[in-house]
Amino acid sequence: MAGEPAAIGIDIGGTKLAAGAVGPDGAVLSRARRDTPADDVDGILAAVGDVVAELAPDGGLPIGVGAAGLVDADGAVRYAPNLEWEDLPLRDVLAERLGVPVTVDNDANVAAWGEFRLGAGREASSSMVMLTIGTGVGGGLVLDGRLVRGASGMAGEMGHMVVDAGGPRCPCGNLGCLEALASGTAIGRTARDVLRREDLPVPTALRDLDELTGKSVTAVAREGDEVAVGVLASVGWWLGVGIASLVNVLDPQLVVVGGGAMQAGELLLGPARESAASHLLGRSKRSLPPIAPAALGDDAGVVGAALLALEV
Ligand SMILES: [Zn+2]
Repeated sequence: MAGEPAAIGIDIGGTKLAAGAVGPDGAVLSRARRDTPADDVDGILAAVGDVVAELAPDGGLPIGVGAAGLVDADGAVRYAPNLEWEDLPLRDVLAERLGVPVTVDNDANVAAWGEFRLGAGREASSSMVMLTIGTGVGGGLVLDGRLVRGASGMAGEMGHMVVDAGGPRCPCGNLGCLEALASGTAIGRTARDVLRREDLPVPTALRDLDELTGKSVTAVAREGDEVAVGVLASVGWWLGVGIASLVNVLDPQLVVVGGGAMQAGELLLGPARESAASHLLGRSKRSLPPIAPAALGDDAGVVGAALLALEV
């Protein structure tokens, strides 16, 4: 028999909103989804009210929200690259509309918390670094058993660590961010760069330069295409550079990698481990922490957001 829900977790992304009623142990008891009207703040707020009414018709449950973008310590979304909102006091607006306690955090932070508590990090007692590799690169940090939010709520933007100053331009404006070198977008770009070389030594199923995406390159790589496998290896190498820097700074028990790009699995993680081991400080005297795939999939954000709402 399903238990009683204790909180509602809501994950607001660039294209969709996923929500779940979650038990005190983090089990997702029921789910709801809506398309996110990215250019319509009122539409998103209405969708939140809608899923809350669907999941908890009697009301009263605390709500945890993970929102794409920079979220400050007061639960306000300062800026979101894929959503039309700026300086939106999301926590306070929702709390007033819905009449229940609301917590709001960055979507990658809440996903990291879900993975730490119930997913790939559930065996870790105190520390974990999570990287979410999709179109861009997000992340979350757990140290001493707590989610690290930083002085203003904006810590954990590992995608914007500069790993190759002077490298390709990142959507944030800087050059050579990890996101510019080790994201789904970077997989597509790297494949285009490789294909433009005329002396390509092996045949490849990658043909249409304009259609290349992280997803299409990964699909071809999984069928064994040598060039596509090489593209993932080179992107994985950069991912390893970023991971080594994070391990050198934070010395976590575990590194978890999630997001859409993990469709590539070991084709990305294998080269990342090798590269991270080769960039690790004191590599002859220590071992790399495990680098593991995320375990909760799309549920990570919903579970993490709900658990955070229960901890306030
Ligand atoms: Zn950047």
